[in-house]
Amino acid sequence: MEFSEDDEQALFELQGGCCYLCVEPIEGKDLGALDHEKETGEVRGIAHQACNRGIGIFNDDPAALRRAADALENPPWRQIIEWEPDDA
Ligand SMILES: [Zn+2]
Repeated sequence: MEFSEDDEQALFELQGGCCYLCVEPIEGKDLGALDHEKETGEVRGIAHQACNRGIGIFNDDPAALRRAADALENPPWRQIIEWEPDDA
């Protein structure tokens, strides 16, 4: 399916002018890029180039990205040492 400039503008408006990955405005130096699924070529959304590279580092693998997010929220070392926030 051909994705026209009008389609891209409609998508940008649908996303509220924000990156579909980090949900921050697309402006300034990183004007964003149309992100595609690598094998099918299907458009996924408009993302900052940095955000697009970020998911690319995880090979666009949802399971790997979920594991990384889970690890950020629950780092494995907490299973060894009881963690207390400093600002308590
Ligand atoms: Zn972003």
